[in-house]
Amino acid sequence: GGYLQRADELQRLNAFVHLDRDAVLAQAKAIDARRQAGEPVGPLGGLPVAIKDVLCVNGEPTTCGSRMLENFRPPYDATVIARLKSAGAILFGKTNMDEFAMGSSTENSAYGPTRNPWDEERIPGGSSGGSAVAIAADLAPLSLGTDTGGSIRQPAALCGVVGLKPTYGRVSRYGLIAYASSLDQVGPFAHDLADAALLLKVISGRDPHDSTSVDAPVPDYSATLDTPPETLRIGIVREFFSEGLDPEVEAAVREAIRVYEKAGATIKEVSLPHSKFGVPAYYLVAPAECSSNLSRYDGTIYGHRAEDFSAKFPGEEDLPPLIRMMMASRAEGFGAEVKRRIMLGTFALSAGYADQYYNQALKVRRLIRNDFDTAFKDVDVLIGPTSPTAAFKLGERTADPLAMYLSDIYTITANLAGIPGLSIPCGSTASGLPIGLQLLAPAFAEENLLRTARVFE
Ligand code: GLN
Repeated sequence: GGYLQRADELQRLNAFVHLDRDAVLAQAKAIDARRQAGEPVGPLGGLPVAIKDVLCVNGEPTTCGSRMLENFRPPYDATVIARLKSAGAILFGKTNMDEFAMGSSTENSAYGPTRNPWDEERIPGGSSGGSAVAIAADLAPLSLGTDTGGSIRQPAALCGVVGLKPTYGRVSRYGLIAYASSLDQVGPFAHDLADAALLLKVISGRDPHDSTSVDAPVPDYSATLDTPPETLRIGIVREFFSEGLDPEVEAAVREAIRVYEKAGATIKEVSLPHSKFGVPAYYLVAPAECSSNLSRYDGTIYGHRAEDFSAKFPGEEDLPPLIRMMMASRAEGFGAEVKRRIMLGTFALSAGYADQYYNQALKVRRLIRNDFDTAFKDVDVLIGPTSPTAAFKLGERTADPLAMYLSDIYTITANLAGIPGLSIPCGSTASGLPIGLQLLAPAFAEENLLRTARVFE
């Protein structure tokens, strides 16, 4: 009840696109009944979990922050949702997000921006802004987000909460509405590492519905969290202290490094020489995959269908009405950023250009992955800032896509390499805005990542 009341009081933050009070209360009642009957209620028994609106929940609105899916109710649960249900979680609303997870500020939502509770004139980060705010403003104890290029870690940093992007393949993507399938991963937001560990365990593991989910044992992240790692060899990535890094963010991160030094860690400077190509490689790979994934929204089977698809420009009257319907539906259903990405991706994949752009980006992606492999020969974990700046003002970067894209300069490479990453609060600016510390580990080393972060917590 307390969380529902807070959600009412803090509606101005616009953290939720959909929150059905009756559905929440009915789930809570069902859990109570099970508890009273002495039945097991599962590891999350009765805990509310807010869900990013990119994850399919059977029969519930799932908009992806888009007008395109305004009236879409999926006929099935995403695997992570099914797992939450059997773990006894209470699904606590659908959270606001950048349209189809494309953005870094939650300003690209068709349902208005989400506000940062630390300063309501600022953005919460994105694209999982609503899920980060749900934790920061105490609207729910746990939430799920997705991270394609930083969309869990960056809003976690800007909202002062914990956010974890698992290894690609650790968590099923079945029922996660695809943005860039080779990069997307679902992960937890929480107040602290113990809560994040608990939620990660519930959602992880092989799923026959997702052939990219990996059949590897899922450690009990909670059980080992308080055991410090056997070795504490920490790499400081030279390239993550580049120009554009805000001095207050840098100072907080350097202070965090000193905490590790005092804890007896071996600190080593390492280089990821190809990380400077991370943003350009990502902005070819991600839009290329998005242009393919989003071709399904054509107004025929589901999603928005334009009512008026009469010819509006010269030449259109010669097109078959079906084609005009598709064009008008996509023109009306998608927002500007999504259209920009579809055009970028279509161009990067087109005959005559693919070798120069898309295939080149794939080669760079491999080099970035190799850089990490080399670095992890000497160190267990890499640390640096999650985001180059604290939360910026609403509207500050909306007119400048490149400035917006640079918000993810330190997070994007982990997605390209498929490795796990975590953001944990490490201080604040003089004006009280949270700062996040990012930790990165080799593939499937989430357990070590959490334990290393715990030394700092
Ligand atoms: N900001 C990046 C983008 O717009 C990453 C988004 C994400 O991780 N979903 O693509």
